[in-house]
Amino acid sequence: MNVVVLSGGGGGARFARGLQDALAPGELTVVGNVGDDVEVLGLHVSPDLDSILYTLAGVIDEERGWGRAGETWNALAAAAAWGGEEWFRLGDLDIGLHLVRTRALREGTRLSEITAGLVEKAGLETRILPATDDRLRTRVVTPAGELSFQEWFVGRAHRDEVDTVVFDGAGQARPAPGVLDALDAADSILVAPSNPYVSIGPILAVRGIREVIEGRRARCVAVSPLIGGRAVTGPLDRMLRRMAGGTTPAHVALSYRGLIDALVIDEADAPCEAPVELVVTKTLMRDRASARRLAEVVLEAACG
Ligand code: GDP
Repeated sequence: MNVVVLSGGGGGARFARGLQDALAPGELTVVGNVGDDVEVLGLHVSPDLDSILYTLAGVIDEERGWGRAGETWNALAAAAAWGGEEWFRLGDLDIGLHLVRTRALREGTRLSEITAGLVEKAGLETRILPATDDRLRTRVVTPAGELSFQEWFVGRAHRDEVDTVVFDGAGQARPAPGVLDALDAADSILVAPSNPYVSIGPILAVRGIREVIEGRRARCVAVSPLIGGRAVTGPLDRMLRRMAGGTTPAHVALSYRGLIDALVIDEADAPCEAPVELVVTKTLMRDRASARRLAEVVLEAACG
């Protein structure tokens, strides 16, 4: 079986691990968001790809939800003492990866090739594909003006309300090698419980990806990132209220209009009406076992 999941770095990464646990080795391909990518202290950081990699490899800091377990922060502290930027937190272990990736990018290696190399070093059989190798950057339009994604999300702790999200470079960005083929060959296409605007939106903005999903033969099932109308983490509930007018499953489903056959929602959001088939289960991934249970329900719904 070939399963492709579109994913951001938080809820998405944990759901991807549930899928990896539920499927046979080699059956899963994760297409990850790169709209959050950022340059920090001269290093290219791909926060969502890294969260996916660290989570699938079992080295993520589970409590913090990002970065590596057992992390130390000496390099950042030293850089800050010499006048360097410290608004974006990079740990010592994490920096090791960013050094390798930044060097390879400067030598002309594509992000997708670099990611494949990291996946191999981690000993994973799941494929992780960046949505694109080209430059695509998410920006948010707020009452305080237009901000880069990380300036808003990390720098200003996503306090500003968001009126619109734009994807710089989306017009030119081509899908990374393997993305369209994987979607085309998929028996199931899944959308992780990630932020539809700033995690899944940038993936769908890459030329050709939305079209291939629209023309799919496989079923496409999304998992709602809201529980009881509220985001588990992050600003999605506020974003949906302001940009879509509410936080019910119907509002989530409409953000994937034309793309999904079914939406998996939490028991706390049922009963309700939505323009797609609804599957009701417990969607809180409190640990690895609950993520796997959720993945099994979603796979069942997707294989229909
Ligand atoms: P980011 O790249 O770190 O922003 O991560 P994602 O976009 O992949 O994930 C953030 C979204 O995941 C938020 O909207 C959360 O509400 C949602 N989320 C996080 N954990 C869970 C969970 O356990 N269950 C569900 N249903 N959603 C979750």
